[in-house]
Amino acid sequence: MELYELGIKAAREGLAKGEFSSIDLTQAIIDRYHAKNAEIGAYLTFDEEQALELARANPKAVPIAVKDLINVTGQPCTCASKILKGYVSPYDATVIKNMKSHGFISAGRVNMDEFAMGSSTENSGLGVTRNPYDLTRVPGGSSGGSAAAVGGNLCIAALGTDTGGSIRQPASFCNCVGIKPSYGRVSRYGVTAFASSLDQVGPMTKSVEDAAILLGALAGHDEMDGTTPKDPVPDYAAAIKGASMKGVRLGVAKEYFEVEGMDPEVKRITEEALSKCEKAGAELVEVSLPHTEYAMAVYYIIAPAEASANLARFDGVRYGHRSAEAKDVFSLYTKSRAEGFGPEVKRRIIMGTYVLSSGYYDAYYGRAQKVRTLITRDFAEAFGKCDALLSPCAPTPAFRFKELQDPLTMYLNDLFTIPSALAGVCASSVPAGFTRDTKMPVGVQFICGAFEEAKLLSVSKAFEDLRGSLV
Ligand code: GLN
Repeated sequence: MELYELGIKAAREGLAKGEFSSIDLTQAIIDRYHAKNAEIGAYLTFDEEQALELARANPKAVPIAVKDLINVTGQPCTCASKILKGYVSPYDATVIKNMKSHGFISAGRVNMDEFAMGSSTENSGLGVTRNPYDLTRVPGGSSGGSAAAVGGNLCIAALGTDTGGSIRQPASFCNCVGIKPSYGRVSRYGVTAFASSLDQVGPMTKSVEDAAILLGALAGHDEMDGTTPKDPVPDYAAAIKGASMKGVRLGVAKEYFEVEGMDPEVKRITEEALSKCEKAGAELVEVSLPHTEYAMAVYYIIAPAEASANLARFDGVRYGHRSAEAKDVFSLYTKSRAEGFGPEVKRRIIMGTYVLSSGYYDAYYGRAQKVRTLITRDFAEAFGKCDALLSPCAPTPAFRFKELQDPLTMYLNDLFTIPSALAGVCASSVPAGFTRDTKMPVGVQFICGAFEEAKLLSVSKAFEDLRGSLV
């Protein structure tokens, strides 16, 4: 096995035994980057010198690829946007500090949809990322660079962010494990904000055990983020020991199966996953999430509303691109923004500004918040009857470039991941098999209640252990 093929656990074992050092591991990733990145385009930039320097200073540390919206001192942080081209971070996000103190270093910046808006990474303003399983297909998004780097063995593991599905859907498309932690589980300090009431950082890895180890390093209270509770973080790596499906009550929400446009292979793989779990001792429980049909509409009011406010700070004055054409302060704002933002980001800012404008606020934003409460209650009720939900992760496997032309069809790819994001609960995507026709990977989604990551990881691990005979 090559060093770049290792996951976190195996890398740590090798480091502990002295079989190789962090420098060897980092160098192996750098060599792999040179061999493969021109083809896959997972990374936007890779500061090799800095990565090796970090490895020299931390000889037992494991290098992690970082989505290009998380601040790391001295590294670019572009959010894959022309408006932030050339911007260099002056500080570390809390997740980066936490990683360092748990034996991880950051190595390389991976591509994404601009400001995390999208489901295919085609909205990146700075580069194209291809699916390592089929270069004519997208890696998913918005954490497409993270997923392609993990799935294509261009890193040991990666950090992604999930606002409405951006960790889980690309994980499903590229055959990796992705965890969207509960809202508040992981600090958002130093993570460029998209929709502040939804954003979460999470691990994208080659196994559930790796995800448990990395999540344990990321999670916890941060005085810089008031949404993070003070309670101690459970030992996630210990929580998955002896994981089993026996006696697990697995909820099946009919709203997640009767969906128009669901790929028959995704349906087959998800149903096989269900019966596999049942045979292994899980009890399947039918549940209902009756407000699911409103989730897309609610998300596409709340997320753009928050984005329009968050992105107001990119005005040509403080960060990144400044228009050379500007004649006064007003044209400095408008021209810098017109030149710097891509079309999807502009669309969201316009939508968000509209739904927040006076006279419309109550009708759209206020109403959406009320329906969000109903969606949250749906989950609370479902978790009264089951331990975890199992569902498809995305309605299709990875699609081809330019296949989803209009924004609405693209938005529908997040049908199964958006409701749990709105509810603030935790969810995973775990590889479940390959389509028969196109041989593309497909993941299934597990969802657990808020701050039940230990349970989520344990069920995900039990499924991962079963999956051998699925593929
Ligand atoms: N695809 C969704 C969007 O475009 C979710 C993105 C995300 O989770 N960052 O908003």
